[in-house]
Amino acid sequence: MNDSTHLSELNQRVSAAKIEVEGRGETFYPGASRIHLALDSKSWPERVEKRYMLVPTTCFNCESACGLLAYVDRETLQVRKFEGNPEHPGSRGRNCAKGPATLNQITDPDRILYPLKRSGRRGEGKWEQVSWDEALDAIAGRIRTALQEERNEEVVYHVGRPGEDGYTERMLAAWGVDGHNSHTNVCSSGARAGYHWWMGMDRPSPDYSNAKVILLVSSHLETGHYFNPHAQRIIEGKKNGAKLIVFDTRLSNTATHADHWLSPYPGSEAAIFLAIANWMIGEGKYNREFVRRWWNWQEYMEVVNNEPGASFENFEEHLREVYSEFTFEYAATESGIDAATLLEVAKVVSTAGTRFATHNWRSAGSGNLGGWQVARTLTLLNALLGALATEGGTFPNSWNKFTPRPPRLPHQHPKRWNEVTWPGEYPLALNEMSFLMPHLMKDQDAHLDVYFTRVYNPVWTNPDGFSWIEMLSDEDRIGLHVAMTPTWNETAYFADYILPMGHASERHDLTSYEQYNGQWIAFRQPVLRAARERLGEEITDTRQVNPGEVWEENEFWIDLTWRIDPDGSLGIREFFESKKVPGEKMTIDEYYGWIFDNSVPGLPEASAAEGLTPLEYMRRYGAFEISNKVGRVHEQSVPDNELEDVRVDEMDRVYSRAPIPPSPKAPGGTKIDEDEDGRRRVGVRVDGEILKGWPTPTGKLEFWSRTLHDWGWPEFAIPTYIKSHIHPENLENDQIPLITTFRVPVQIHTRSANSKWLDEIAHTNPLWIHPIDADRVGISKTGDLVRVETELGYFVLKSWITEGIRPGVAACSHHMGRWKPEGHKGPRLGISTVALNQEGSEWSLTPRKGGEPFASSDPDTMRIWWTDLGVHQNLTHAVHPDPISGMHCWHQAVRICPAKEGDRAGDVSVDTGKSRAAYEKWLTMTRSADHYSPDGTRRPYWMLRPVRPERDAYRLPLKTESAEV
Ligand code: SF4
Repeated sequence: MNDSTHLSELNQRVSAAKIEVEGRGETFYPGASRIHLALDSKSWPERVEKRYMLVPTTCFNCESACGLLAYVDRETLQVRKFEGNPEHPGSRGRNCAKGPATLNQITDPDRILYPLKRSGRRGEGKWEQVSWDEALDAIAGRIRTALQEERNEEVVYHVGRPGEDGYTERMLAAWGVDGHNSHTNVCSSGARAGYHWWMGMDRPSPDYSNAKVILLVSSHLETGHYFNPHAQRIIEGKKNGAKLIVFDTRLSNTATHADHWLSPYPGSEAAIFLAIANWMIGEGKYNREFVRRWWNWQEYMEVVNNEPGASFENFEEHLREVYSEFTFEYAATESGIDAATLLEVAKVVSTAGTRFATHNWRSAGSGNLGGWQVARTLTLLNALLGALATEGGTFPNSWNKFTPRPPRLPHQHPKRWNEVTWPGEYPLALNEMSFLMPHLMKDQDAHLDVYFTRVYNPVWTNPDGFSWIEMLSDEDRIGLHVAMTPTWNETAYFADYILPMGHASERHDLTSYEQYNGQWIAFRQPVLRAARERLGEEITDTRQVNPGEVWEENEFWIDLTWRIDPDGSLGIREFFESKKVPGEKMTIDEYYGWIFDNSVPGLPEASAAEGLTPLEYMRRYGAFEISNKVGRVHEQSVPDNELEDVRVDEMDRVYSRAPIPPSPKAPGGTKIDEDEDGRRRVGVRVDGEILKGWPTPTGKLEFWSRTLHDWGWPEFAIPTYIKSHIHPENLENDQIPLITTFRVPVQIHTRSANSKWLDEIAHTNPLWIHPIDADRVGISKTGDLVRVETELGYFVLKSWITEGIRPGVAACSHHMGRWKPEGHKGPRLGISTVALNQEGSEWSLTPRKGGEPFASSDPDTMRIWWTDLGVHQNLTHAVHPDPISGMHCWHQAVRICPAKEGDRAGDVSVDTGKSRAAYEKWLTMTRSADHYSPDGTRRPYWMLRPVRPERDAYRLPLKTESAEV
């Protein structure tokens, strides 16, 4: 019998028979759940059958949360491989390369398996293994003391990849600390701010599959937001006839699929969108009825034009005037793309009707001063076409995701405002000003008593990493640094404790993301726990199945919280107590079981139909679709039971005394307020009907933002164009812009250096430079070393001469250049060993050893053939906080020249004195709450906040006489 016949016979046997699984006598069906027979490749030429249990979980390697199926070897109870989970509604069985590479991460021979405590000076690289009990007691003791002494703001949790929805925010609310700090301001908050000020929600959810025209400002097909779930639907849309327009200065893989690829000068994207808008308005090619019903044009006409009660026709006339300067010729001058091409693209956009799916993620929104206006002007096109929350259009994120209510949800708000994360200089920053921490800590002479970095690596990820090293090394600033990480990273070298946390197949989390016109929820689970439970074992702690003492965060936080408040006297422990067994810790099964039983519509019924509990259902299938085709939520009527003693105000906002439905989240999110009589806003009256509307201050789409107007930025209150800090007018003669915001498709920011498969595909980050520029600066061939000079210093790397980049612009991916200091314990795969030197404010990083084969438990590490591991360019970037959105504006103005004598690939040199000066320069652009707050508060109360402090904490402190002086 040949092998294919053998396999076929195997499959027939599997298909024909129920397979009895030992232990609990359950039966499973292939395809439904959960066993697989295959020939063992390693036993060749013998034909040895292997039995695998298929256990679903969720990928943790980007924010898409695609479904994975772990193939667990029935005999060894080891994971053999990961493939896609076809029952996951978002990813539908497909993954990118990073999903299956989870196997590399869990088998990494250098991974951190036990809690470590530093045994030398901080940053010296000396570690000792400690027990979890010792680490937990030390951390909990400090937090307890801080809370008892009302130093709540000295406890900060700084998260990189959340990969979960609400668990930690709930915990911080229970602790009563305003300590949530995210990475979002170095990631996506620019575009988010643009969306937030239009629609009260901060991300788009395009319905690509049903679109007629798709417009992307980013390389979505290869690396963009919700990469694989979006990419497969973009291709689906294209197959259905959609036209694809891509704005990307680089010829990315996405651009190669485009019907119209535009390579604009970086930062000019908003000028193009406004030119398209101007043309559509002038030609009358917009959805008048949608604009009339849903834009806040009345408010705009009243405040800006001093025309209360203006007619819609008057507004239209005004609209024509306000954008008239944005001609195609003007946009051509700004972007370098000829006016005829822009007109051609405008015509395509105008044919989309309500099937116009658009997305700006990172890219221009994160690269430029004023980048948030890229998302705002892009949304202007959707809003003109009425292509918001329509089939084939673009939904707001919150309507296409599902957040379930957890048990024992705390509703208390932290009492104290955290000035380090939400400083008064940036009152409208959409997210925490986390990348400014080293500077803000100095300005405020602040001290953090316990600082968690959790799956976050600011030394490597953020700009100005040497300032981070300076801050983290200073024990007067950071009392205790706890790095919670599944892999070694550059920030963990400067920690006091390193706590080994689980990868995708070693932890529990709930996820739900906006990826199409529907809602789903997915369950990440420790797959070996689920496998062994199927065999009848009782598992009470994830460490019983994970390698070494790797733990999951859910259980860790419960245990830590109990130690912070052992007797419940702080009022915290109650949120982590069992509902079933009072006085006991809540278990993970109880926590998720309660959610699945009580908070996920349709799940109990679907589970019962299969004779399962909801928890068993989620452990078996890994995901559940709650709804498909969500539709126009803003047009839905407010239900009668939510209308009680209603008041409609002069803006047609509708307030009601009906009881408030329970919130699914800890105090946070967008907050639409109550009226003076304590009624709750429930909707908005449109043409006489009470509709749900949008979660904005007006309930409408905010073409004009009173928030921006009242908080000191009236000139930017409507979608408009802000010239970037790398606009030609702002460059010196020999400078060109450097684009740094793009990913390498097969790498994860900071957690994939230990993935051998991914490293083999992509391990370096050369400088993209056009032949014209290469010739101009004297680079003769690809591979020649170049020096790139930034505001702070320089870095050295190989060149890649390519016509895939616009002349006059260079690019370098931020993904590479991972390192560890000489003499440090730590990883070997994908990581250079470097010499770190400091003299005063002058720092240098010099590679000593690149990639090379090494002996380990994995024979593949002897097969490493690549040596070049790229350069850590972010170290040389100054902080560039956008004064309005707070986003770090990543693009750099640089000088490029051939490498100088003695330069080596990977060299970095920086003066942190210059980074301080750059911080101070950008600080002068701000309009602080102190001077511009219209109501004596620190921040508009309605705007998003992950864990919202109580209302009193919003009040600016009264100035003392000496402070005023
Ligand atoms: S897109 Fe790739 S990395 Fe992201 S969740 Fe899906 S499989 Fe994982």
